[in-house]
Amino acid sequence: MKHKQYQLILIIFTLLFLFITPALAGNKTFINNIRYWTAPDHTRIVFDVENLPQYKISPEGDQLHLIMELDDTASLLPHDQLKIGDGLIDTVRLKTKDGKTMGVVINLSKPAFPDIFTLNRFQQKPERLVIDIWRKAESLPAQKKKPAAAKEIGKRVVLIDPGHGGEDSGAIGCCLKLEEKWVVLSIAKRLQYILKNEPNIITYLTRSGDYYLSLRRRTELASQYKADLMISIHGNSNPVARMRGLAAYYLSPSAASDKAAELVAQQENAADLMGGVSLGQDKTLNAIIIDMLQSSSITESVKLGELTLKSFQGVPDLTIDKKLHSAPFAVLKSPSVPSILVEVAYLSNYQDERMLADPEFHRATAEKLAAAIKEYLAISAPPENLLVEGQAKEGVHYHIVQPGETVWRIANQYGVSLQQLRQANGLGHSNLVKTGQKLVIP
Ligand SMILES: [Zn+2]
Repeated sequence: MKHKQYQLILIIFTLLFLFITPALAGNKTFINNIRYWTAPDHTRIVFDVENLPQYKISPEGDQLHLIMELDDTASLLPHDQLKIGDGLIDTVRLKTKDGKTMGVVINLSKPAFPDIFTLNRFQQKPERLVIDIWRKAESLPAQKKKPAAAKEIGKRVVLIDPGHGGEDSGAIGCCLKLEEKWVVLSIAKRLQYILKNEPNIITYLTRSGDYYLSLRRRTELASQYKADLMISIHGNSNPVARMRGLAAYYLSPSAASDKAAELVAQQENAADLMGGVSLGQDKTLNAIIIDMLQSSSITESVKLGELTLKSFQGVPDLTIDKKLHSAPFAVLKSPSVPSILVEVAYLSNYQDERMLADPEFHRATAEKLAAAIKEYLAISAPPENLLVEGQAKEGVHYHIVQPGETVWRIANQYGVSLQQLRQANGLGHSNLVKTGQKLVIP
């Protein structure tokens, strides 16, 4: 009997060991999916993984081959090659090495800069390894190189910001499964098209395709383009399915004006977790930007918000929330650029979602937004009185170094060479910059 008991225990232990071993063996992880998006200045490749692997860049790579090694990783994909062919990246190849390490070879069409980081599980998104491949400044299309080119006298600049994009779909419709990122891009493009007929208005889009732009980058563009105003376009979502209609918001650096506004701000601010920037980059966003915030831009934003709400009065079938709300939206934190965020309708409401699916509604919405923008510009102060922080009268442009930023990335962003940037800031041959350091952009 005793012997039998012993045998039984042995069998149980053996079985346990068999089941536990793979878990102990550890942190084996799997690649479940690879996706990519092409933006004008970079291409983003995202690996969906079971657990985040240890990774390193292999010294075996060269200018046209970025080689990475992922520890203890296997692929569950049917193919080991992904063809991109977008002019920057040719292919991504997976190659198992020594049975454990996964080699990732990114074949580049031209030399570029990698920026690699991980994103944690967030809502329905899994753990992700993100590889951003940045184009070198000299290979960018001409108009992308110097977005802050001298503003033409008498012209007003409108920056239109369609929310979300790429990895971050934004809200998903309750019934037709519309994705917010597409709806807002369509409205934004129509708005730009309408404003193109205005001889004194120049419009820019923060994004013109399906790719993600960090909230911080969107606010930076407002400064770079010397925008007179920025309008961020979104679609709303609420667990209460009957909630409908359009609402407008301006930035409040502290508390939201009400509970619902707080919820909307939380949802929209989560875009960076979804769509992805490395977390380190945005931790200090609030502290830095709020310091720079000027009360004059709040007054101007309120003016713009009220004109927008007024413009939408009387649109058939569209419920308007007549109160202008305030909430701490990260994307509205452009210092002294009057900015509002408009949630055009609810994707979580069936009637609203049907409206949002209709291109005619996109056009009508764009018309109303354009009318409000024109009215605001007609009554607001001329551009000289709305100088953007960091753009002093003599035209000097500054950049405050954010966590995780490198000299090449800043140079690339402003379309200047590394050498010019080093020279302008007395950096010698050093590439070292500190978070919070103020750099002169030559
Ligand atoms: Zn949104």
